[in-house]
Amino acid sequence: MSYLKIDNISKQYDEKNIALRQVGFALKKGEVVSVLGESGSGKSTLLRIIAGLEIQDEGRVYLEDEKILNPAEKLVAGYDEIKLIHQQYKLYLNSTVEENIGRPLLLYDKDYRRERVEEILQMLNLHAFRHKLPKQLSGGQQQKVAIGRALSIEPEVLLLDEPFSSLDTIQKRELIEELRHIFEDSDMTVIFVTHDLDDALLMSKKLFILKDGELVQKGAPRDIFRKPKNLYTAQLFSHLNPIPGNGEAFIRPSDVKIEKVDGRLEAEIISAQYLIHYTQLTVRLKDTDVIWKVEDQNRLYQKGDSIGLSFHEENIISFSPQ
Ligand code: ADP
Ligand code: MG
Repeated sequence: MSYLKIDNISKQYDEKNIALRQVGFALKKGEVVSVLGESGSGKSTLLRIIAGLEIQDEGRVYLEDEKILNPAEKLVAGYDEIKLIHQQYKLYLNSTVEENIGRPLLLYDKDYRRERVEEILQMLNLHAFRHKLPKQLSGGQQQKVAIGRALSIEPEVLLLDEPFSSLDTIQKRELIEELRHIFEDSDMTVIFVTHDLDDALLMSKKLFILKDGELVQKGAPRDIFRKPKNLYTAQLFSHLNPIPGNGEAFIRPSDVKIEKVDGRLEAEIISAQYLIHYTQLTVRLKDTDVIWKVEDQNRLYQKGDSIGLSFHEENIISFSPQ
C-alpha cells in the first residue's frame, strides 16, 4: 500500500512557466528517494505542494489516504507531520544548539522534551556543541541543527529541498551519509531534492528524474544508468560515445575496453588526460573520424598512439521507440 501518494500534480505559475506536468508517484512508509533535476525543473514547487504550502492546478497529494489540503483549503497552511527544510533555514541566533532543537517541543511535557533533545543531539552527533550559539558553528553544523530541529517533533515525512548547497563538498558528503544512516533506522518517509547526481546517489537507492516539470524516469540508479529512457537521463551519468552508422546508439566511456592490438575498432589517441584514478583518452576512430572518450587505469598512453577498442553489445544504449 502506498503511504504518500502524489497523484497527477500539475502546476503552472503563468503563461510561460509550467512548473509541474502531471507528476505522479507513490512512496511506502519509511522510503527514502532522491529527486534529481536541474534548476527550474520544478523540484521546489513539488515539495511545497506535498507540504501543503502551495496551490496545485490539478492533482492531489494523499498521506495515508488523507488529502493534503493546500493553502486555499486550510486556515493555517502546512502540516506538523510534514517538514520541509530548505537552504535558507532560520535558527534562533540568541539560543543555544539545544534550545534551538527543543524549541518546537515547548508545548510538550518537560521530561519528554529533555529526553528528545538528548536523542537528537546524540543522533546528529551534536553533543559537543549543545551550549554553543549558531554563530559559533560552521555552516555544516548549523545546517545539522536546523535538521535536528525539524526532526525533534518526529515528522512522518521529511522534505529536503537542496539543504546542503551552502556546504563544501566534504562537509556535504559527510552530512548526507550521516543522514542516510539516520533515515535507514527510522520510519520517516524522505524526499531529498537536489541538482547533484552524486548527492542523490549517496542519499538513496531510488532516483526520480525531473526535467522541465516532468517526471521522466524513476528507479534504481543502476537501472537508469543501464536503461535510460532518453538522451537526457543517459547523459546525467556520463559522456556518451556515438556508435558510427547508428545515430540512435551510444556506448559509455567506462564500457569501452582498450586493447593494445586488434580491437573491434581502430583508433588514434588525440589526447590523454591523467586524472587521479584513471586516464581519460580522447580518440579518433580510424574509419569514420568519430571522436570518442574512453578510460583506462593505465598511464602509458601517448598522443598519436594507435589502439584497439571493443565493447559488449549488451552495454549499448539506444533510444529506439519502445
Ligand atoms: P527548482 O526548484 O527545480 O529550481 P522551481 O520549482 O523553483 O524549480 O521552479 C519551477 C519553475 O517555476 C521555474 O520555471 C520557475 O521560474 C517557476 N516558478 C517557481 N516559483 C514561481 C513563482 N512563485 N512565480 C512564478 N514562477 C515561478
Ligand atoms: Mg528549488
